[in-house]
Amino acid sequence: MKFEFLSTTGQSFLKAIVETEEEKQGFRAEGPYPLLKMVNDTVIFDYEIKTIHPDILALLCITCFYPYLDQYVTFPQPVSQKIEEAFGENGVLKLHEVIDGRYQQTKGIKVTNIDDSITPYKGSKLAISFGGGMDSSALYKLIPEAILVHEQTKLNNGEIQLEKTLETIDLINGEGGQAFSFANNNRRGISEPSGWPGWAACTCNALLLSTDFNIGYIMTGSVIAGSFLSNGRKYFPGTDPLRKNKWIQAFELVGIPMFPPTGGLSEVANAIILHKTNFINKAHWCFRDQGSNCQLCWKCFRRDTILFAIGALDVNNEFWERYNTDFIKKQLVKRPIYFAHIFSFTLRKLEHLTWLKPFIPYDVENTSDWICNSYTEAIKLVPEELRHLISERIVKFIEPMKDESKVENWDCTY
Ligand SMILES: [Zn+2]
Repeated sequence: MKFEFLSTTGQSFLKAIVETEEEKQGFRAEGPYPLLKMVNDTVIFDYEIKTIHPDILALLCITCFYPYLDQYVTFPQPVSQKIEEAFGENGVLKLHEVIDGRYQQTKGIKVTNIDDSITPYKGSKLAISFGGGMDSSALYKLIPEAILVHEQTKLNNGEIQLEKTLETIDLINGEGGQAFSFANNNRRGISEPSGWPGWAACTCNALLLSTDFNIGYIMTGSVIAGSFLSNGRKYFPGTDPLRKNKWIQAFELVGIPMFPPTGGLSEVANAIILHKTNFINKAHWCFRDQGSNCQLCWKCFRRDTILFAIGALDVNNEFWERYNTDFIKKQLVKRPIYFAHIFSFTLRKLEHLTWLKPFIPYDVENTSDWICNSYTEAIKLVPEELRHLISERIVKFIEPMKDESKVENWDCTY
């Protein structure tokens, strides 16, 4: 695959030129997702940049088109050896294929235009890949000096998705923060079935800005559910080099570490940070009601139970009737229940609701003695030079867990 890049008059264009049949389809790197077919070859960012380091540009190409890469890749400009160190034959993140029904890593990429004289990228500022939800908003409150980069969603008809997060972005700029928000076309529409080409694609807008703004680190709002608990199912050692997320390792090798400072916090702890900083009403995790939280869907249900449990949602019993639906009840009887560690805490605070009582997961261990605290092992996900700063910020709001073995023994898969 060959890539071309152009930045001009308010836009930047990233085009993938397919060179082999294999490059028309492929897999995401993170699990047994369906085979993706490339149906669009150009990502258009509604933002014009001044410069971009060749390695960062290569990382942008890889995150946008990862499923379609085959063995040989030619980037828009020659790159340093770092790209092969991360994605090559001896790299940390290889391509994936399904072989004998098993989804597995196969070969690394071979870069056709490496130039050893290129100095690897180095930036110094902190950026947040900002989604506007509870987790990245809590991250902003922890590290308000960071540059926030938000991605607007462009719908198939070219319109921008209505979202209240844009008001929050204005507010942040108004209160002395530095936040950017712009759309890119087709990034979710590159593939059929549509969707992100991979998890790390959430960093694309931040990568595009990084050279111009001297961004050295991209922080994401991932929580303990993603970093250690498989969404509440079972603990995995997320700091073990063998189990540490491969994208995180690859970004670090290229010279722009990406990491979750709140990887040791639950959504409950993040909600506490937002409550303490008076920012809870500025977080929007669902667009279904005029660009904000619909208070009807499964995600809004989880978030509302969290807010209620920590005393940040003052509502009467009548309010909860909106969630008294077959759909919600069906999710609650599944085992393992999605985000079990959250619901085991929050639903016990709603025992007074007669319709809900039979669906409270009493069979799942009560997490109230650790869910509001931080799992300190997670600091190892943070680059060493930033660990002191991040720990200091977290402890201002959230105390460390007293017994971390509760997290390490978490298993709802029995
Ligand atoms: Zn919703």
